[in-house]
Amino acid sequence: MSSQKGSGSRARAQKFQNATAFKNDKYGASPQVKKANAKVHDGVCQRCKEILEWKVKYNKYKSLTQPRKCVKCLQKTVTDAYYVMCRSCALQLQLCAKCGKSEEVVIPLDKKEEVMEEEEPKGNRRRKKGDAHEPDEEDDLDDFGELDSDCESEETEK
Ligand SMILES: [Zn+2]
Ligand SMILES: [Zn+2]
Repeated sequence: MSSQKGSGSRARAQKFQNATAFKNDKYGASPQVKKANAKVHDGVCQRCKEILEWKVKYNKYKSLTQPRKCVKCLQKTVTDAYYVMCRSCALQLQLCAKCGKSEEVVIPLDKKEEVMEEEEPKGNRRRKKGDAHEPDEEDDLDDFGELDSDCESEETEK
């Protein structure tokens, strides 16, 4: 007999039920959250980066209010929350700045290291236009010029 197989089979695929993923800025991000969201977790290994991203995502990320002590150079040079060492130490020792292990760093620190370049103040050296005379050179030319003029003066005879 005609056994109808479930007419129209389930054509409609289940749509994402949990389309609304947790968003920490759902109710308007606070400046702190925005800052954390924009934060680049450089100088850390993949695992630490994920941990930090997770913290940011779930509003667990608390940025430092004051520098922390670096475990390597023992200076208060750590400016990133959860990092155990400062950037220069992590860069020098090629370690993850967060867990302190020699893991592969995802975003190298030296990539965006700001080089302190002393910029030469512009406007100090103004070139005077129309005053291109270079005295030294002219002196040399004058010597030859005198010789020439001597010859010429002798040619005045008719
Ligand atoms: Zn250090
Ligand atoms: Zn790490």
